[in-house]
Amino acid sequence: MNTPGTIDRDEIGTLALTVLVGVAAAGLPFLIAFVRVLGVGLRTKTEGATGVVVVSGKRLVEDRPDRDYRARLETAARVAAVSSGRILILAGRIGAASITEALAGGRMLRKLPGGLGPCIMLEQTSHDTLTNLLPLPRRDLWDTRHYRSIWTGEKLPRWHPLFPRVAMVRTSWGCRMKCSFCIVPHLCGGIHRTRPVQSGVDEIASLDVDHVYFCDDENFIDEPFAWALAEALDARGVKKRYFPWTRTTTVNRSPELLRRWREIGLDARSAPVALPRSSARA
Ligand code: SF4
Repeated sequence: MNTPGTIDRDEIGTLALTVLVGVAAAGLPFLIAFVRVLGVGLRTKTEGATGVVVVSGKRLVEDRPDRDYRARLETAARVAAVSSGRILILAGRIGAASITEALAGGRMLRKLPGGLGPCIMLEQTSHDTLTNLLPLPRRDLWDTRHYRSIWTGEKLPRWHPLFPRVAMVRTSWGCRMKCSFCIVPHLCGGIHRTRPVQSGVDEIASLDVDHVYFCDDENFIDEPFAWALAEALDARGVKKRYFPWTRTTTVNRSPELLRRWREIGLDARSAPVALPRSSARA
């Protein structure tokens, strides 16, 4: 027995062993993941590369690329210079910009030393950048019978399956809110972009399943878009059940929008709870 208030060697040894085991256990999953990623990287073949460096745009500041966008363009220019590749800039126009993000990016690249002019291609015909960034998924490539999810909701029809076949659909990208726990504001720069309404309706109408799990970051933050999508789905006669994501503040601000979606098939929603210090950007 040791004297109270003193620490003997056994205790120090036990503590050291505990710390060692803890560190080793924590590092093992990382090591395994690292080896797997390294393996994928080493096995990946570069043959078949298109020779095109694709740059996605970013919201302009006073019609000019911001620092992040400029860095992205400069990296693309460096890669294209050593690989004799071409640069494709994808970006429409949002906000108050008077030119497209692609055009602003192209102008910046052309001013760089090295004469990149002829190898720059711009995709700016679509007003909506997301059309370019999110081509419709090839749903014919997988068997939807194997993709199921638990489904909850108020007043579901009798004998509604607990695990129906479910399809994931994205109609928008990003979010304008700043919930303190969420990574989306950091990924999307506080911007919310929507697909063209008709494109979303076409995709949902073409699904061979009745349940749609939206993977938007916030489905109803752009109220005019959410209204338009609901009306267009209804007008098209699309009968599906929906599970969206929406912030509690959005619901409180527009309960009638949720009611409208309820009419066309909304069963439940996932609602991030905003912490007191979170706030809206718009
Ligand atoms: S509303 Fe949702 S997506 Fe937007 S910041 Fe909050 S948690 Fe993230």
